[in-house]
Amino acid sequence: MGLIDRWLRRLEDDWCRDCKCAMEKLHKRLFALPNVSVGHYVERKEPDYYRKNLYPVERKADIPSGMYACGAIQYRCPQCGRRITVLDPFLPVRDEEKHEGNVVYQAGELDDFLWR
Ligand SMILES: [Zn+2]
Repeated sequence: MGLIDRWLRRLEDDWCRDCKCAMEKLHKRLFALPNVSVGHYVERKEPDYYRKNLYPVERKADIPSGMYACGAIQYRCPQCGRRITVLDPFLPVRDEEKHEGNVVYQAGELDDFLWR
């Protein structure tokens, strides 16, 4: 995915299309994806997959090299109160991150798991 595509996609994710305004970050957490290693990333959309495979970590430094990480952010629209969750799987590479593209949940599918 190119830089512009990524930027557009990102902009779209935290933007309430109904109210045409930016949503605010409510929660943010970092997870490891221990069963995904370099070269084996496949985008998954099923909430159950993330329930089984995400392990909470405190810092990026806690993720062993070659293992994927996954950021999770919950956004809330300040006007209509709509909430969405964005998963951001990425591979930490030295001081950089190789982002694979966000997975967005609109209906709170993972709320009880991510923010417990
Ligand atoms: Zn809204």
